[in-house]
Amino acid sequence: MSKRDYYEILGVARSASADEMKKAYRKLAMQYHPDRNPDDAAASERFKELNEAYDVLKDEQKRAAYDRFGHAAFENGMGGGRGGGGFDFNNAGGGFSDLFEEMFGEFMGGRRGGAGASGRGNDLRFNMEISLEDAFAGKSTTITVPTSAACESCKGTGGKDGATPVTCATCHGHGKVRAQQGFFTIERTCPTCQGMGKVIKDPCRSCGGAGRVRKEKTLQVTIPAGVEDGTRIRLAGEGEAGMRGAPPGDLYIFLALAQHRLFQREGANIYCRVPIPMVTAAVGGTIEVPVIDGSRAKVTIPPGTQSGHQFRLKGKGMSVLRSPARGDMFIHAQVEIPVNLTARQVELLKEFDKAGDAATRHSPESEGFFAKVKELWKDLTE
Ligand SMILES: [Zn+2]
Ligand SMILES: [Zn+2]
Repeated sequence: MSKRDYYEILGVARSASADEMKKAYRKLAMQYHPDRNPDDAAASERFKELNEAYDVLKDEQKRAAYDRFGHAAFENGMGGGRGGGGFDFNNAGGGFSDLFEEMFGEFMGGRRGGAGASGRGNDLRFNMEISLEDAFAGKSTTITVPTSAACESCKGTGGKDGATPVTCATCHGHGKVRAQQGFFTIERTCPTCQGMGKVIKDPCRSCGGAGRVRKEKTLQVTIPAGVEDGTRIRLAGEGEAGMRGAPPGDLYIFLALAQHRLFQREGANIYCRVPIPMVTAAVGGTIEVPVIDGSRAKVTIPPGTQSGHQFRLKGKGMSVLRSPARGDMFIHAQVEIPVNLTARQVELLKEFDKAGDAATRHSPESEGFFAKVKELWKDLTE
């Protein structure tokens, strides 16, 4: 199957400005968002296609590459966007990488490559539990992470007074030395510089030459409204400091949503079981329910409401990530049979039962049910 043109997918001209594309993307993303099109494979496909197109076109360099070479520009590992875990559509309900870019100005998939041996700092994981209310409204908070930070005395170089390391004399900067053993040449990590290729003549006293020290770091974290359980937020460069001025790692915040006392969340929708007094369910009335945004909503209960009936409160559900849209709230009616009746109440209920009009169907469910039971028994006796 040949791929569709990215501009065509976004429905913009090839000359479209970044702003025009962003607008087009948002509009279409809202339209095809999985939350709005549950179980719609075609919409889901469009949504993926849309994200892919936008991820390329919003990036100036990638857009230029696409303009010149078309889809071929990204088929041989160029562009770096499709590598290890760049796109993660399951986690944040779509457009995951986009969230990172908006927050931290860096493309998630475009991981800085080849840092491995250079002493790049470790990535850190920070688990955070937030309430459903916080997930709804978004939240700004500070966290304290135990980590390694660049040493202040040597400014991360590891040398006394910030002296930069010099090329290792043993390995001449290669980080490896060769030794002849019989017929074999064995290559091993340079013992003088531990493979770093550079040594420090006069190490910094504070950090012992490592260029970094153990430290607690306090960070400001912004959690956008509409996040889901399992959403990851990446703070680029906020992981452990690298060795001797090497690039730092990243900090990943893994969000877990705490169980709510009343609400159940499913995507953008909120579900709530609400007990309805028997009399209200029978004759009708209004009830008041709490809403995730802190307000209250009045729900009209029509006469004859049965247990299990669902009422939909449009636009009273969860916020949607990077969108002004809001899900719905569903009230699940649970008609409550009164307990601990007084003698008078029992009397009234018995009277209520007798007062029924034989021609009117007071219990539609039972009638339907017992009609089926009769048929079943008839079938069995025949
Ligand atoms: Zn130091
Ligand atoms: Zn060396």
